[in-house]
Amino acid sequence: MEVQTLKYPAIQNYVAGQSVNDAHTATMDVFSPLSGQLISTVPLSGAASLDAAVQAAKAAFPSWSAIPIKERVQIFYRYKTLLERDMKALADLVREENGKTYDEARAEVEKAIELTEFACSMPQLIQGEFLEVSKGVEARAERKPLGVVASIAPFNFPNMVPHWTIPNAIVLGNTMILKPSEQVPLSAVKIAELLKEAGLPDGVLNVVNGDREIVEAICDHPDIQAVSFVGSTKIAKVVYIRATSNLKRCVALGGAKNHLMVLPDAHPEMTASNVAASMSGCAGQRCMAGSTMVGVGPVDDIVAKIVEEAKKIVAGQNLGSVISKEAKARIEQHITEAEAAGAQVLLDGRNAVVPGHEDGYYVGATVIDYVTPDMRIAQEEVFGPVLAIMRTNTLDEALAIENANPYGNAAAVFTSSGSSARYVMDHANAGMIGVNIGVPVPREPFSFGGWNESKFGACDITGKSSIEFWTQLKKTTTKWNPESRVNWMS
Ligand code: NAD
Repeated sequence: MEVQTLKYPAIQNYVAGQSVNDAHTATMDVFSPLSGQLISTVPLSGAASLDAAVQAAKAAFPSWSAIPIKERVQIFYRYKTLLERDMKALADLVREENGKTYDEARAEVEKAIELTEFACSMPQLIQGEFLEVSKGVEARAERKPLGVVASIAPFNFPNMVPHWTIPNAIVLGNTMILKPSEQVPLSAVKIAELLKEAGLPDGVLNVVNGDREIVEAICDHPDIQAVSFVGSTKIAKVVYIRATSNLKRCVALGGAKNHLMVLPDAHPEMTASNVAASMSGCAGQRCMAGSTMVGVGPVDDIVAKIVEEAKKIVAGQNLGSVISKEAKARIEQHITEAEAAGAQVLLDGRNAVVPGHEDGYYVGATVIDYVTPDMRIAQEEVFGPVLAIMRTNTLDEALAIENANPYGNAAAVFTSSGSSARYVMDHANAGMIGVNIGVPVPREPFSFGGWNESKFGACDITGKSSIEFWTQLKKTTTKWNPESRVNWMS
């Protein structure tokens, strides 16, 4: 029988600083969406593999958490230089497994570097509190790590999303289990290897691969203290309920339906290029994608410019592939259904073929006008390079559409009026708001997180807000001098 050589070696779990070859674990094929070619395999691990990783993380915790934070961050300073050194290789890996353009993949690694820089500033951010609460009696509060924590990632940012959690959680003294998406398991291997090269002790970061079974095992494992999750709303709910019912902390980020409200006084060229980039960047597979535009009043000229901009976005050139054959079929079905329901397809990306990559999973940039709020394309997350345009007469009507959707990741307004912008900032029911910005991702140190069904749990996943998630407060009251026996309530 002919043995096929894979472009990348079969993925293995990474436990206590070593690749682990578990011959008994079933595997799944990994395809590059750029070409449809089989490039690797990934193990579908179960509870036993998880337990080995948790034991390694548990063993590493006492010594790792005992190192002063100013020393712990030195590893991440070194790691940052390794990310810069290997930028091209890391971006190539993201492109290969996820299907992004090289520029998009590189931007993802640049964002990982920014997240690492933020973690390096942690010693300045987590200084504790101290007060003489009574004569000679001192109280102090300091942030302590939780222990073993877990991070479960989606397919759409194989490098950046793991960096939402790894640097902050680990710098703060925790040890971690990372569970990448089984669709894009390659980047995680490289991240673990680079952290080892930077000096991270074995067992502090462990990588386990798999799908539903391993996620459920993470939610159930008694030695995991906190679970962060990024993925679809359906699974975010399941993970949040299961992890918290097992008395763990959990923050679970879900899907999105983000509305871009375009007013007639918006700058036409700037708005058109922003809207087109927002809906099509990373092939529309971003939880911050502006997949829905609401034109308020007469904006036909801006819509025409958006179509012109979208025509410049060409599959296989400046537009990458979507993740799978199934995703391509789902996205094209959304377009077909919207057209059948009476919407006007101004630019049609169905049946896109990239010469030389006929088996890749491509959908061309698509613009659909006169979508109505009752259509499925206006309600569900499409997760492809498709813009659905709705029309209203007033800003209040536009806001009513945005606020009626169950998600609440992002909303944006394009206008030259300060008061209209302010009105949207005040009234949009979403966690991240853009004014003349189509993808309003908060840069560090601001935190990332939506509202409503886009996030379950109290804290955001990055920035200052994440410090609270990854730590617990220890309060100590001390009294050493004899005279303080008086004037103290206890
Ligand atoms: P997904 O929910 O299918 O998978 C996410 C993770 O959950 C993966 O690691 C996967 O292995 C695991 N999983 C899948 N099915 C499971 C099940 N039945 N039980 C337990 N675990 C399971 O999401 P995806 O398709 O990988 O990613 C795309 C989704 O993620 C989109 O909805 C997107 O909006 C969302 N997302 C949200 C954010 C955010 O910040 N809110 C960021 C990125 C992606």
